[in-house]
Amino acid sequence: MGRKFFVGGNWKCNGTTEEVKKIVNVLNEGQVPSQDVIEVVISPPFVFLPVVKDLLWPDFHVRTQNCWVKKGGAFTGEVSAEMLLNLGIPWVILGHSERRFILNESNEFVGDKVKYALSQGLKVITCVGETLEQREAGSTMDVVASQTKAIAERVSDWSNIVLAYEPVWAIGNGKVATPAQAQEVHSELRKWLHANTSPEVVIYGGSVNGANCKELAAQPDVDGFLVGGASLKLEFIDIIKSAE
Ligand code: PGA
Repeated sequence: MGRKFFVGGNWKCNGTTEEVKKIVNVLNEGQVPSQDVIEVVISPPFVFLPVVKDLLWPDFHVRTQNCWVKKGGAFTGEVSAEMLLNLGIPWVILGHSERRFILNESNEFVGDKVKYALSQGLKVITCVGETLEQREAGSTMDVVASQTKAIAERVSDWSNIVLAYEPVWAIGNGKVATPAQAQEVHSELRKWLHANTSPEVVIYGGSVNGANCKELAAQPDVDGFLVGGASLKLEFIDIIKSAE
């Protein structure tokens, strides 16, 4: 996959059909850099996948925010990797902190999900990150290394994985990590990946917006962003353009 700049928009559990159509229009009309320079992947809620797929320019990829850990069947409320592929959805986010912490997904469960999704041919963005308590206790690298290790123990080929460093304390609250804080963890993660598996794309997530994206994007080990709140707004175009 190399280190092409990568921007993901994570719409989380937001939107109505009308709002989704408006956001898609904004994206279609934005003058974004070519696919040689950047890969942009949008994650709407499952129910809006067909409308987004129909209306969004093919320059953008569509992906989901989750999928099930194994082949589908009697698993009420779940959506399988096979179903996504059947719909022509090539990407999935797995292990977002909101699923790890609110829905109690363990490192091992996330690792199993990543392994299964890759085995079915999906590309995966997987998220790691520490809470404020863990950061203050000085255990940031231990936490992100053990989250990453649970994947590395199950997956040897990382070429279809994008790793997102998303400090939990920075998500959804405007408290973005400083460029130096982001760079420090990204560079440590890249070293860890070099030592333990194959290094690939490492992106940052947590309160990225149109005002702070340029400085973050300039950090040598920040290969792009996973964006929540700002991906629902016009400024998402500025964030995409920070690749230039
Ligand atoms: P945020 O979310 O940009 O709203 O902080 C990022 C994420 O959760 O991926």
